[in-house]
Amino acid sequence: MKYLECYKEGYRKLATAGVPEAELDARLLLEYICGTNRNDLLVHGDREVAEQHLTAYEAAIAKRMERIPLQHITGEQDFMGLTFRVNEHVLIPRQDTEILVEEILKDMQDYCRILDMCTGSGCILISLLHYNNWCEGVGVDISPLALQKAKENGKNLLPEEKRPVWLESNLFEKVEGKFDVIVSNPPYIRSEVIGTLMPEVKDHEPMNALDGTEDGLYFYREIVRLAPEFLKKEGKLYFEIGHDQGADVSELLEHAGFREIHVVKDYAGLDRVVYATL
Ligand code: GLN
Repeated sequence: MKYLECYKEGYRKLATAGVPEAELDARLLLEYICGTNRNDLLVHGDREVAEQHLTAYEAAIAKRMERIPLQHITGEQDFMGLTFRVNEHVLIPRQDTEILVEEILKDMQDYCRILDMCTGSGCILISLLHYNNWCEGVGVDISPLALQKAKENGKNLLPEEKRPVWLESNLFEKVEGKFDVIVSNPPYIRSEVIGTLMPEVKDHEPMNALDGTEDGLYFYREIVRLAPEFLKKEGKLYFEIGHDQGADVSELLEHAGFREIHVVKDYAGLDRVVYATL
């Protein structure tokens, strides 16, 4: 079968199965399998696709029709210009989270100590360490399986001297020392909302990376309560938040004695990041 026909067939199947962005996913899967890029569809559509690629493409399309996330099929997701390995044990890095990383980068200095609470794939911490020098990083997660991925990503993406320490811990339980920056994109979805999410998310992403308990604020409360002990004077705490959590999280920070509390919007104009100074 020719490349273009192959793509059209994939697209048709995904669209019929009601997969969102069927066109894009059909193309990305084909490119992933054939090792091609966007150009190939435009200029080499009449090339024959090798038998083994055809079989692999059909299998990938069948998986995507079952609403398995594209990133679980390819095993990767780009974030901050780096390619992270992902699986069902880590939250797939989101573009929105780049806002959080960029906000920290604006203010971050070389030689700082940084803690990433609920690190998941490690995407936040690894990006920060990649774009700075001589910093010390600690990435914490309660899930040993998530930490395995984070560690793999650290190895793939950072030179040895920049790699962080990965720590299996229930929040701050095993954390030691003081930090200049503490960052967290914790689970923040209200439990009752989880059932309404897309099947890709609710059926395939780790529940313990999504569920922020009844009011969605559990992890913010705990982290705000415990972080001061682990922050240096003038240290900063950064959170990613849900679009309707800006006021609640700001209030938590204020009550805990933080100052200079800022809420930052994402490109859609929604509240996405809150940060404050101790
Ligand atoms: N810190 C990771 C991320 O931003 C994981 C977040 C989570 O599991 N809630 O992708």
